[in-house]
Amino acid sequence: MSEPYDVVIIGGGPGGYVAAVRAGQMGLKTAIVEKRGALGGTCLNVGCIPSKALLQSSHHFEMAKHEFADHGIKAKVELDLKTMLGRKNKVVEDLTKGVEFLMKKNKVDYVKGMGVISAVGEVTVTPDGKGAKKEVLKTKNIIVATGSDTTPLPGVDIDEKQIVSSTGALDLTGVPKSMVVIGAGVIGLELGSVWRRLGADVTVVEFLDVVLPGMDGEVSKTMKRLLEKQGLKFKMATKVTGAKTAKGGVTLSMEGRDNGKKETLKADVVLVSIGRRPYTESLGLDKVGVDMTDRGFVKVDADFQTNVEGIYAIGDVIGGAMLAHKAEDEGMVCVEIMAGETGHIDYGMIPGIVYTHPEVAAVGKTEEQLEKDGVKYKSGKFPFTANSRARCNGDMDGFVKILADAETDRVLGCHIIGPQGGDLIQEVVNVMEFGGSAEDVARISHGHPGLPEAVKEAALGVDKRSIHV
Ligand code: FAD
Ligand code: NAD
Repeated sequence: MSEPYDVVIIGGGPGGYVAAVRAGQMGLKTAIVEKRGALGGTCLNVGCIPSKALLQSSHHFEMAKHEFADHGIKAKVELDLKTMLGRKNKVVEDLTKGVEFLMKKNKVDYVKGMGVISAVGEVTVTPDGKGAKKEVLKTKNIIVATGSDTTPLPGVDIDEKQIVSSTGALDLTGVPKSMVVIGAGVIGLELGSVWRRLGADVTVVEFLDVVLPGMDGEVSKTMKRLLEKQGLKFKMATKVTGAKTAKGGVTLSMEGRDNGKKETLKADVVLVSIGRRPYTESLGLDKVGVDMTDRGFVKVDADFQTNVEGIYAIGDVIGGAMLAHKAEDEGMVCVEIMAGETGHIDYGMIPGIVYTHPEVAAVGKTEEQLEKDGVKYKSGKFPFTANSRARCNGDMDGFVKILADAETDRVLGCHIIGPQGGDLIQEVVNVMEFGGSAEDVARISHGHPGLPEAVKEAALGVDKRSIHV
């Protein structure tokens, strides 16, 4: 019998594959088990990457149709959806192949199939296909990195054709005339934007009073207003109670959250995007006695260790922010801890980005949270209308807001809605990680003319001394 592995990782998403690379780098005998036939998990196959590819393509389409003329460019624009989807698929394929190459480079065994924890220190893999032989992997450690899946909505059954999850919404073969998005969260606004730009009449139905709940209140209000200006419609404080599918479309039954008023809404396609839930189906966790939370997440301690020695878990399956970069960081730190080193993640400094146009980006505390916690803070805000690069680009919606401790000036949070907000936020994340102040950001040289100057100006604004407003 061959030597047992040092670690077997179940799940090849951003959490799992980064853990595998790090384990390989550290000289651990490593295997990664993945059942979908490609590495990269939700993120590369049906999440971050295909959605961003379509957001970019649909943004180009919208620019060409509506904005080029302002720049003195005349163009007759036509949509070729098949090519757009094909390009998206190629981006996904190249990246997932790239991850497979990384496994080879780091001497990680890639085992294709469904992994089950058959005993402590043992993973049994069943490959796809009739008669395929099971493989038993003996190992000192197991990392569960099985990710998450779409939360279903009772009465609204996903068929991935007329009623779709995000996965189906990334592959519609035609632009629907009308689309209803259930949930004004990240997926709803990103994919709703894609299909609105490509020509669909999109209505977003949201249970709460705000879009992007949890984000800074001012950002969330501005986002809703800007998306409405772009043509998205919103039905707030409304719950969907059921769906009937027929050849001509889907009829949704809805109810006012507060007044109980009943109504129906018809659409060609309905996207269910009300959140994601941990995925641990048939994994065998119960058989080896791994503790779970009451919401179905795998329970871990600060070292990503479950209650069963030698079984660790990372990424979406343990809860917290369901973000690829959070899963990656956990993958890296978990393996380092397992190998006897130390590691730590500051969960208060993980940026969250919504890739709509304009982008929304956030790190640290919101004003609402600081008020609730009774923390005294100062706020600096700078609009993109006063940023020269945003004016050159003709892309001036939004602002940067920096929140700093009233006494120490330490940066506590940053909230951006604006062009390339997702890239701009990183500067503030770095400053926060180093315990920096608003004054630090304000005194750092920022290239001109550049969008990052809006960040510097917001930092100056904390002390009421922005220059360009
Ligand atoms: P996953 O990526 O879900 O990977 C888990 C893998 O485990 C899957 O491939 C699954 O097939 C496999 N698996 C499960 N069970 C088994 C088993 N028993 N045996 C073998 N294999 C198994 N995050 C961002 O940070 N930025 C974004 O822009 C972004 N966009 C997104 C867009 C969409 C439409 C969606 C749905 C998600 C998006 N996310 C984004 C979230 C991101 O995809 C997840 O946070 C991330 O993929 C979590 O990584 P993970 O490794 O924990 O799990
Ligand atoms: P979400 O949690 O972001 O939003 C879900 C929305 O649905 C919320 O606004 C919620 O109030 C609403 N909702 C819940 N139940 C409802 C109901 N019955 N009727 C109407 N509205 C209802 O979830 P999501 O958009 O599905 O995204 C799932 C996860 O994927 C998120 O945690 C996110 O972190 C991740 N993701 C990240 C990115 C990114 O980083 N850019 C992109 C896509 C997805």
